[in-house]
Amino acid sequence: MKATIATLPGDGIGVEVVAEGVKVLQAVAEKYGHQFAFEHHLIGACAIDATGASLPDETLAACKQANAVLFGAVGDPKYDAPTAPVRPEHGLMALRKELGLYANLRPVHVYPALMGISPLRPELLEGVNLVVVRELTGGIYFGPRREATDKDLTAHDTMVYSADEVRRIAHLAFQLARQRGRASGGSKVTSVDKANILASSRLWRRIVTEVAAEHPDVTFETLLVDAATMHLLRRPRDFDVILTTNLFGDILSDEASMLAGSMGLLPSASLGAGDLGLYEPIHGSGYDISGKGIANPLATILSAAMLLRHSLKLEKEAAAIEQAVETALEQGYRTADIAGPTTTAVSTQQMGDAVIAALAEEIRCTY
Ligand code: NAD
Repeated sequence: MKATIATLPGDGIGVEVVAEGVKVLQAVAEKYGHQFAFEHHLIGACAIDATGASLPDETLAACKQANAVLFGAVGDPKYDAPTAPVRPEHGLMALRKELGLYANLRPVHVYPALMGISPLRPELLEGVNLVVVRELTGGIYFGPRREATDKDLTAHDTMVYSADEVRRIAHLAFQLARQRGRASGGSKVTSVDKANILASSRLWRRIVTEVAAEHPDVTFETLLVDAATMHLLRRPRDFDVILTTNLFGDILSDEASMLAGSMGLLPSASLGAGDLGLYEPIHGSGYDISGKGIANPLATILSAAMLLRHSLKLEKEAAAIEQAVETALEQGYRTADIAGPTTTAVSTQQMGDAVIAALAEEIRCTY
């Protein structure tokens, strides 16, 4: 098939990991006879430096024209001052909003080869296979806000949800639970809110409960977010689909990344009504390791697999990448974030090469 993929490396380690994602997609294209055209565009701090805008019009237009977007990360310390008039992160939020990508899927898979590197005991991790479904274009990240000034040191952010916004993400979560068809324990949706305190959470719970009634074959439960953070560590195997708001999903998925062992392992897909999606690692621009060639590219490579699955409907190719990642880990390849004290770490590029080698091996085995 022919497809155009807009690549937005962004800032810091985003540039390093997207290069590996593109490399793996090129290898998939060659091996399976597809034609992928990659178009690179600016977003974030590098875009502010070049154009003054964190999401240049040209970048937005190119993303709208593409079949899918592969994204790295945005963020640079020089734009961290509270008084900065334009921030790199605003470019990504605007892009998600403009593309109508209201659902962010963050799967958490625990690799047997990496059981030892999670801070959790292996017996808690066996069989963990969950996905966080985070609402992405509403809630406190998009509600009215007021910045503090030197004269008035008060500020506010507002969490706003409409019934329609909650309903569409809830439907997606229940459909996903059904598709996943979890073998043990059956399909389940856990909706996470703060309904004992927040009015927007009480609406959230009301609407999600209505949607749950339309899916009687899927087990449904609600948890308050404070309890959810605890249960995620105490009994992670019990979760299947975790459905939650923009803010809580952001926090819970970083916590969940520690089940897998590193931020550098978790991919994500941001989806809307059509096939166009944006695929990105859950991590940021990694100020502390940027430019050293040591970032883990697997989250981005696994995001590329999600791109093939969700936007291009290439399930076999997506599964081949996921298997190649698993193989590379089983063969002992480790970047610094997942290497133990006695293991020699490979570079970002070497990890990308190891995945491509495993992919080639896998394809040979299928003939
Ligand atoms: P971060 O995710 O960049 O880093 C957190 C920690 O995880 C760091 O110690 C980093 O070295 C490590 N880490 C992250 N990704 C890794 C990888 N692939 N391999 C190995 N180690 C990895 O979060 P932060 O330090 O809080 O934020 C840095 C910047 O990134 C900020 O400007 C923040 O706003 C931005 N950010 C952007 C996004 C995004 O673009 N989607 C998401 C989160 C944070």
